[in-house]
Amino acid sequence: MSRIVCAFCIGSGKDPFGILSPRSACQVCLGRGTVELPEPHTPCRYCQGSGVNPHGSRLTCPVCWGKGAYSSLEGETETCPQCHGAGKAPLGYLPCSYCLGKEVIRR
Ligand SMILES: [Zn+2]
Ligand SMILES: [Zn+2]
Ligand SMILES: [Zn+2]
Repeated sequence: MSRIVCAFCIGSGKDPFGILSPRSACQVCLGRGTVELPEPHTPCRYCQGSGVNPHGSRLTCPVCWGKGAYSSLEGETETCPQCHGAGKAPLGYLPCSYCLGKEVIRR
């Protein structure tokens, strides 16, 4: 496990959009400002590491759940045959359902 700065609130521990109240805690790190991820991990390309859903600016990224990175797949991987490595569903508003936005699958 390693501890990384929460991408969603950029380490502030506060909800970046203040949906409930400007002082409410970040829903991703629960106000800690950092999140734990198993090693090794991969920066999330779906949200470009921001942790924010690119298609719903106040939501967490559906691939990394707001952390900005996710645990890497173990073992050998290959490019997702469904999205051809794009990580997005055909319409582009959702992550690819086959690789779950991770762009690669376990071989
Ligand atoms: Zn946070
Ligand atoms: Zn993400
Ligand atoms: Zn895919």
